[in-house]
Amino acid sequence: MTTKKKLIAGNWKMHGTLVSVRQLAEAVIDGVEKDASLLDRCDFLVCPTFIHIPAVRAVIDHNRGALRVGGQDCSPHETGAFTGDIAAPMLKDVGCSAVILGHSERRQHHAEGDQTVAAKAVQAHQAGLMTIICVGETEAQRVAGQEKTIVKQQLDGSIPAGATASNTVIAYEPVWAIGTGKTATPADVAAMHAFIRGILVGKMADGAGVRILYGGSVKPENAGELLAIPDVDGALIGGASLKADQYLAIAKAV
Ligand code: PGA
Repeated sequence: MTTKKKLIAGNWKMHGTLVSVRQLAEAVIDGVEKDASLLDRCDFLVCPTFIHIPAVRAVIDHNRGALRVGGQDCSPHETGAFTGDIAAPMLKDVGCSAVILGHSERRQHHAEGDQTVAAKAVQAHQAGLMTIICVGETEAQRVAGQEKTIVKQQLDGSIPAGATASNTVIAYEPVWAIGTGKTATPADVAAMHAFIRGILVGKMADGAGVRILYGGSVKPENAGELLAIPDVDGALIGGASLKADQYLAIAKAV
C-alpha cells in the first residue's frame, strides 16, 4: 500500500438551484482556502447536475480554484443523435476534470451494465477526464456472501483498456449503505478495499497507485475512522456533501 493524496468527492446528485449551488461552491472554496493544510492532504471535487456545472465552474474560476468540478455521468458515444445525453468532450469543454460512472443509481434506474460503463469510460478517457468508476454489492448479494464475486465482476467489466492510476479512480459503494445512514464496518471496508487493490494490481501496471474511494453514508462522525483504513484513498459523499460544513469536516478528518 502506498499513501496517496485523498480525494474528497461530492456527488450532489439531482439537488440544488442556481443560487444554492453557487453558495455551496463558494462556501466549500472559502473553507478550503481558510485551512491551507487541507490542500496538502486532499484533492477536492464536486459533481453537480449537468445544468449547474457552468455556474459552479464560474465560482471556481473567480476564486482561482481550490476545487475541481465533475459530471455525474456521460454518454458512451462521442457525438451524434442521442437526445438528452451529454458527451464526455462536452463535459471537458465546460471545464470538468472528472466524471462519475456506473453509480449504483445509474445501474439501478437506467439499467446500466458493466459494458456500458466501460464504453463511457473509454469516451471519458479520450476526452481527458478522470473517471470515478463505482462498484458495490446490494444487500441481498452481501447476505448471500456474494459481495466479492459481484465487485470483481463489476471491476473486470467496467474498467476499460487504457485505464491508468492517473485517469481512473474506483469508488466502492455498497448499495445498501447509500443514503441509508448504514455504513459498512471498518473491517468490511478494509477487507473489500484490500480485495479491490489486489484486482487492480493484477490488472493494471500501476494498479497500486489507483485511488480507491469508499462511499455510502460517509459523514463527519465516521470519516476519521473510514479514511484511516489502509487502501481507503478518499470518499465519495452524497448527502453530507450538500452541506459545506459537513463536507469540509470530512476532509478535516483525514
Ligand atoms: P450518501 O451517497 O453519502 O448519501 O450515502 C453516496 C453516493 O451515492 O455516492
